[in-house]
Parts: sequence; C-alpha cells; structure tokens
Amino acid sequence: MRYTILTLFPGLVRPWLSESLLKKALEKGLIAVEVVDLRAFGLGRHRTVDDTPYGGGAGMVIRPDVAVAALESVLPADEVILLSPAGEPFTQALAEELAGKSHLVLLSGRYEGFDARVEAFATRVLSIGDYVLMGGEVAALAVLEATARLIPGVIGDPQSHREDSFVRGLLDYPQFTRPPEFRGLRVPEVLLTGHHQEVARWRRKEALRRTLLLRPELLREARVGALEVQWLAELDREG
Ligand code: SAM
Repeated sequence: MRYTILTLFPGLVRPWLSESLLKKALEKGLIAVEVVDLRAFGLGRHRTVDDTPYGGGAGMVIRPDVAVAALESVLPADEVILLSPAGEPFTQALAEELAGKSHLVLLSGRYEGFDARVEAFATRVLSIGDYVLMGGEVAALAVLEATARLIPGVIGDPQSHREDSFVRGLLDYPQFTRPPEFRGLRVPEVLLTGHHQEVARWRRKEALRRTLLLRPELLREARVGALEVQWLAELDREG
C-alpha cells in the first residue's frame, strides 16, 4: 500500500513513521509513505497557502488552487481522503475497505480548514471523531495506522486483529498478564486454568458483557451467533 500525506507540517508526520511497527513495515516494503509539503505549492515569494474567509470571520482558509495543485501532483490514487470534523465517521469497517486499496492520499488541513471547493476533488471526507483537532495530521496518521495494521505482515500475529474491538461489531474482551494478583485485584480464575475451551467461552462472554455495558448501540449491527444472543439475554437480565 502506498500512502501520500499532504500537510503544511511534514515535520509533525515524519517522526511518527520512524519507530515501531510502521518503521518495520516501511523497511519491509509492505507500505510506502510519501509526505508532501503543501507549502511547496504556495504562491509567490512567500509561498502563501491561505487567505481570509469570504464573508469575514476569524482565521484563515487554505486556498483551493494551492491544495488542488499539490493534490494533482501526486495523482493517480484509489482514494483522495480529505480529513475534516465534518466528514463521514471513520470506522473499523471503513479501515478494512481502505486497507484493500493500493494508493491512498490523505489531505490534512490546518487553520479553518480547506476552501470548501477542495471537497469536489476528494473521493471521501472523513472525520476521526466529534471533536476538533488543531490540524489533520493526527487524523491522517489515525487512518494510516488503522489501515496499515490490516495489511498482511504489518503486525506480527494475523489472528490478533480478528478479535479486535469492532471487527465483529463487539468490543474486545479484557486482557490480563502477570502478576496474577496486583494490589488486591485478581486475574479471573478461568484464565489461570489453562483450559482453552473455557477461556475461549469466557472471552466471548466478556466481549458481550463489555459491549452491552459500554457501547450497547454496537449490538444492533454486531455479528453474533445464536449462543451469544442467548448469553446477551442472560447478561441483560443480570443487569
Ligand atoms: N473550523 C473547522 C471546523 O470546525 O470544522 C475546524 C478546522 S481544524 C482547526 C483544522 C483541520 O484539522 C481541518 O481542516 C481538518 O483537516 C483537521 N481536523 C480537525 N478535527 C478533525 C477531525 N475530528 N477529524 C478529521 N480531521 C480533523
């Protein structure tokens, strides 16, 4: 997969790629990431990228001619994703869909964002949540991380994302490690038994319990079997 991130602050993005799993994925050639400085497409001696909003008001808006010149310099791409708080919510399902593409372009805004006409040149507008960041770099990196980890070979154990939160529409089950007791808090006994079937059953039930408690709305779309439906009814009755 090839990613291109367009940003006014390449120095915020590059260090993120220089550690841990993304660094390894780059070294193995599983992903390629190009970080393009929007300022290089700025106008005039001062490389101006923004201007005041028509109609007045606070802040500056990124000019469409600058943004689109930068964008067109990196095309073709399978998807051009404009990051905005006003976008479609970015979900695990969308991460799975995007992970199957071969070139994603991520347009990160700053200030009051891009001139609205830039949206006409994007295939999607995505939001990573109902809050406003200072810029789109964290959002672009969130899309990169969530999709790159689904590419075969990027994370060690391919089994691990089959059980991740949201994959089946459920939250993940709680995880524990040593020591078996910490400040009076014990690891659930079943996890210490080494009985794999019991452990698997406990985990499935705990994933349901957590989802019911913390994100009940996810259950409307969750992919659960008949036994889990029965467990859910029991958990609901237990309250
Ligand atoms: N005035 C804009 C608004 O309220 O929608 C906020 C602009 S924000 C300060 C600057 C840039 O950060 C945006 O152009 C966008 O690229 C990025 N951004 C901020 N919050 C975001 C979010 N929740 N999801 C995706 N991108 C976001």
